[in-house]
Amino acid sequence: MKQFKSESKKVLDLMINSIYTNKEIFLRELLSNASDAIDKLYYKSLQLGNTGLSRGDFKITVTVNKEARTLTVSDNGIGMTEKDLENNLGTIAKSGSQDFKANNELKEEDINIIGQFGVGFYSGFMVSDKVEVVTKAYGEEQAFKWSSNGAEGYDIESASRLEHGTDVILYLKNDEEYNKFLEEYTLKELVKKYSNYITYPIQMMCTKYDYNVPEGEEPVKTQSLETINSMIPLWKKAKNQVTTEEYNSLYKDTFYDSEDPISTIHMSVEGVVDFKALLYIPAKAPYNYYSKEYEKGLKLYTNGVMITEKCKDLLPDHFSFVKGIVDTDIELNLSRETVQKSKSLSVIANSVEKKIKQELENLLAKDREKYEKLFHAFGLQLKFGIYTSYGMNKDQLQDLLLYYSVKQEKFVTLKEYFDCMKDDQKFIYYATGKTVEGIKVMPQLAKILEKGYDVLCMTDDVDEFALRFMGNYNEKEYRNVYGDDLGFDDDEVNETDAELASVIKDLLGDRVEKVRISNRIKGHPVCFTTEGDVSIEMEKVLNAMPGNNNPIKARKVLEINRESEVCAKLKSAFDSGENLNEYAEVLFGLAQMIEGISIEKPTELVAKICNLIAKN
Ligand code: ADP
Repeated sequence: MKQFKSESKKVLDLMINSIYTNKEIFLRELLSNASDAIDKLYYKSLQLGNTGLSRGDFKITVTVNKEARTLTVSDNGIGMTEKDLENNLGTIAKSGSQDFKANNELKEEDINIIGQFGVGFYSGFMVSDKVEVVTKAYGEEQAFKWSSNGAEGYDIESASRLEHGTDVILYLKNDEEYNKFLEEYTLKELVKKYSNYITYPIQMMCTKYDYNVPEGEEPVKTQSLETINSMIPLWKKAKNQVTTEEYNSLYKDTFYDSEDPISTIHMSVEGVVDFKALLYIPAKAPYNYYSKEYEKGLKLYTNGVMITEKCKDLLPDHFSFVKGIVDTDIELNLSRETVQKSKSLSVIANSVEKKIKQELENLLAKDREKYEKLFHAFGLQLKFGIYTSYGMNKDQLQDLLLYYSVKQEKFVTLKEYFDCMKDDQKFIYYATGKTVEGIKVMPQLAKILEKGYDVLCMTDDVDEFALRFMGNYNEKEYRNVYGDDLGFDDDEVNETDAELASVIKDLLGDRVEKVRISNRIKGHPVCFTTEGDVSIEMEKVLNAMPGNNNPIKARKVLEINRESEVCAKLKSAFDSGENLNEYAEVLFGLAQMIEGISIEKPTELVAKICNLIAKN
C-alpha cells in the first residue's frame, strides 16, 4: 500500500472531522468533479476538433446498491491515467484542476472548474469507510483502480472499464445516519439543492409507482433512468418559469452578496447575435466599489462552458455596478484576447447597456423609492460616467441623475426641475457644498428663492465638473448661485456704494477680484460670490488633488448686503476714516469661514475682532 504524501493523513483527519460539518455536501463535490472532468474533455475536443464527441453524449450517473451499501458517481469525462491518480488523489490539497489550467496556459478565470481547493474529492470519506475510483483516461487503453480507506494510504491496480471516464464508488459507513444516502428521495433532493445547474444530465435509476390497479392489489412498480437535475440554467428558462426566490438565490450564491438585488433583468435576445443574460443591480455598493481594486464585468458563457469570469467589454464603466451572466451559443474563440475583440461581443454589450438603461428609467418612473436607494449607492458612478467621457454620455445619463431640490425638499430629476421653472427664469440654479443642510442656509440662495426659483444641491465633488460637460438642459444653462450673472438684475448701484466698494477692494488687494455692495444676499451681511469658470467648491476640489502645486484660484467677489447694519457701519467708517481696514479684514475672514476656507492667520483675525468689540 502507498502512503498518502506529506502531511496528508493529518489533513485528511482534520478535514473530515472539522471543515465539513455539513456531510451531505460530499455529493455536490463529487458531481462537480464529474462535471469538471467532462468540461475538460469537452474543452479538449474543441481544441482537437473531429473527435467524434458531441456535447449530447456526456452524462453523469448516480447508482445505488443497497445490499453492498455503495453509492457510485460515474462520468464519461476525461478520466485519469495511473500518474494522474497518483498525483491528484495521492496528495491532499493538490488541485489537479489548477495544474490543468496552468498547463494549458489559461488564466484563472478562463474555464469553469468548480472547486479549486483540492479538498472536494476527500469529502467522500466523511460518509464512507472506503472509496474506490475506477478510471480510464481519454485516449488510453488501460484503466486503473485507486482504493483507500482514508486513514492509511491507497492502492492503485490495473482494472477494466469500457469507456473513458471515472466511477467514484463510496462504501458508506455502516451506521444508520448514512442510510439516507442510499435513498432515492434524499439523493434527488441533494442534487436539486446543490447541483441543479450542472450543465450535463445527472441520471439516476428512479422508481415509479402506478396506482391505477384493481382494488386491493399492490401498485405496479417500474424503474427507469431519469435525469434529476434541471440542467438548464435559470437564464435559459422562460421568465415565467423562474421565481423571484430562484433569481435571488442564484445572485447571492454567485456574486457573494447577502442582500437580495434591487433589480433583476432577464434578457433573451434573438437577432444579429443570439444570447441570454441575467443581470442584477445590487442593493448596495460593494465595500471596494469606488476604488481601483473593483473589477467590473459579466460572466461569459459560451456553449455552456464559462470562458471568462469577468468580461469587462460587456459593461460600460458607468454601469460597472451591474453583476450578471451572459450566455451565447455563438462560436467565440476560446482564447481570451480574441473574445474581447470580437464583434459579436460588442453587439451584446450594446444591447446589455440599452437594457440596463431602460431598467433604470423604468424604476425611476415606477418605483421612485427603489430608484433613490439605487441612486444613493451608484449615482456617483453615473456622474463620473458623464465627467470621464467629457460629456459624451450626457444624453445617455443625464435623465438618470437626481439632485436635492431646496424648494421641493426632495430629490428631483433635471426634467422635474425644468418642468417647474418659472416663465421668466433664465437659468437652472445650483449650489455646491458638503451637505444639503449647509447649502440651505447659504446667503447666496436667498435672493433666488425669493424670486420663486428653485436651487439644486450639488454635494459630490464631481458634480460641478460633470455639469460643465453637460452644459445645459433643454437649452437652459446651469448657473452657480455664486455666479456674477444670475440672469436678473434689479439692483441699482449708486455712486457712493461703488466708491466704498472700490476702497475696500484696494484694502483687500488681489485676494478678491471685486467688492460689491448690493441687495443680492437678503438677510445676510456678507459672503463670497465668484466670477468666471472656477467656483470656490471647484477650487477646493482641484487644490486637494495630490501633486497639485499650482493652486487654482476662484475669482472671488466679496458681496456686502447694502441693507445690512454692517454696511451702514462701513459707510460711517468710510466717512470718518476710522477702522475701515479692520472691518474689511474681518468681513473677508468671515466670508472665508462661510465657505469653509481655512484662514491663514486665525490669531490675527481673532485679535482684530476682539479689538473691535473692545472699542465699541
Ligand atoms: P479539485 O476538484 O478541487 O481540484 P479534488 O480533490 O476534488 O480537487 O480532486 C482532485 C483532482 O482529482 C481533480 O483536480 C481532478 O484532476 C481529479 N479528479 C477528481 N475527480 C475526477 C473525475 N471524476 N474525473 C477526472 N478527474 C478527477
